[in-house]
Amino acid sequence: MSAPAKIDIKSLHLDELRGIAQPSYRAGQIVDWLYKKRVHSFAEMTDLPQALRQQLTANFCFGKIDALRVLGSKDTTRKFLFRLSDNNLIESVLIPASPALYGSPSDRRTICISTQVGCAYGCKFCASGLDGWKRNLRADEIVNQIMAVEEATGERIDNIVFMGMGEPLANYDNLLRAIQIINAPWGIGIGARRVTVSTSGLVPQIRQLSDQPLQIRLAVSLHGANDDVRSRIMPVNRKYNLSALLDACRYFTSRKKQRITFEYILIAQVNDSDEQARQLAKHARALQAKVNLIPYNKVEGLDWTQPSQDRQKKFLGVLRAAGVRATLRREKGDDIAAACGQLRLQTERGLAAAVLESSG
Ligand code: SAH
Ligand code: SF4
Repeated sequence: MSAPAKIDIKSLHLDELRGIAQPSYRAGQIVDWLYKKRVHSFAEMTDLPQALRQQLTANFCFGKIDALRVLGSKDTTRKFLFRLSDNNLIESVLIPASPALYGSPSDRRTICISTQVGCAYGCKFCASGLDGWKRNLRADEIVNQIMAVEEATGERIDNIVFMGMGEPLANYDNLLRAIQIINAPWGIGIGARRVTVSTSGLVPQIRQLSDQPLQIRLAVSLHGANDDVRSRIMPVNRKYNLSALLDACRYFTSRKKQRITFEYILIAQVNDSDEQARQLAKHARALQAKVNLIPYNKVEGLDWTQPSQDRQKKFLGVLRAAGVRATLRREKGDDIAAACGQLRLQTERGLAAAVLESSG
């Protein structure tokens, strides 16, 4: 029988480390090595006694995710392909000077990270769910995406969006644990207001998130302004319908005292009519929510198309005329949501071929 897998040291919080390393100031030294000096082994933690280093080595592992490939250049969106310890592949996207989305000024470097391998929710426009769900990422695998990108580029990241592969709120415990490490002064130290979680609308978890104290931002993938349209493209709407979702959004807004963002992909003939825009405007106004319109990006194997530029602008016009704060993302590499939503454009098979190519 194989031994149980060791816990990764980067999935623990400072207070948990205090229970492990005695006297308790040792825990402070450990997190300093992990997140400030950023070493890759216990052996490098030279101010810890030998016995403690041995104890840590015996009980914990020191996971690192390997960047297999980087696509893009310094001035554009860069995609990082990572291999996890079990050979699963995930991607993160670094957006250099990001558009002023999700409350971030435009000179910030934003990273879009994944929370699962694949996705179980099967939205009809999205590449991430095409092959179904494989597994949740652990907290250390979430945190390591940020640290690996910072290490590979030598640049600090100051804005995080959970819009990569997977449904973050379906991996709630690991997500929250990772956000706490990302946010903590002893950890990566990124302010909670610079962290945005995007969800397809898991109502109980939105409520749970509302009740915990971190002031993180919430983006909700709406994509349909009534139940008919939404259920057609997002199966999750059959479990949590629009009115339940909007109630949960209202709860979040009132608990956190902050506005949420609605993401709305524009798909030709599906959700792009003026009537849909009027219904969307009504929902957004009621919650004082912002709206990000994202022209649908073609996904291989899926039939949908993008509305004409003219239709996109008219849709935007209806929202604005109704007094809604709305933006229309253009088709550019720096489009956060589109870049992130395309993580599964290359299928697993495609990725595997790319890896073989780059290593061979
Ligand atoms: N599961 C979460 C987070 C990941 S998807 C969620 O659904 O919110 C995040 C975003 O990716 C979606 O809201 C959408 O804005 C974008 N996206 C997915 N597929 C896309 C496509 N084909 N074209 C443009 N954007 C897409
Ligand atoms: Fe999953 Fe989000 Fe893609 Fe839907 S849009 S399949 S929830 S990753």
